[in-house]
Amino acid sequence: MADVSLEIRKVIFEKYNNPDIRFTNDEIFEILQQNNSIDKSLVIDDVEKYFTDLCDAGLMRNIAQNFTTQYFKLFDDVEKIKCNSCNVESPIGKSEPRVCPACRASI
Ligand SMILES: [Zn+2]
Repeated sequence: MADVSLEIRKVIFEKYNNPDIRFTNDEIFEILQQNNSIDKSLVIDDVEKYFTDLCDAGLMRNIAQNFTTQYFKLFDDVEKIKCNSCNVESPIGKSEPRVCPACRASI
């Protein structure tokens, strides 16, 4: 089972890597489904907690909500950083704490 938070980070890195643009949970969920990045049984409600986690991590913030659609913006550009502890390469915001999203090691 894929790490949903990491899959969301990858989509943001590839499609929305710009602090000036906004994106929604619906857009990202649709891309995750198209890419087969997440389990097919997951619905939008199941992934809501991962968006909350990414806000708590300091990657992005929730700027608006319209029913179940949530709008987000990045705090800063996102760059890919490879963790020396677990060898996973993760997209991390430039102003985000330098902690590996996969193994929690400092990077
Ligand atoms: Zn790591």
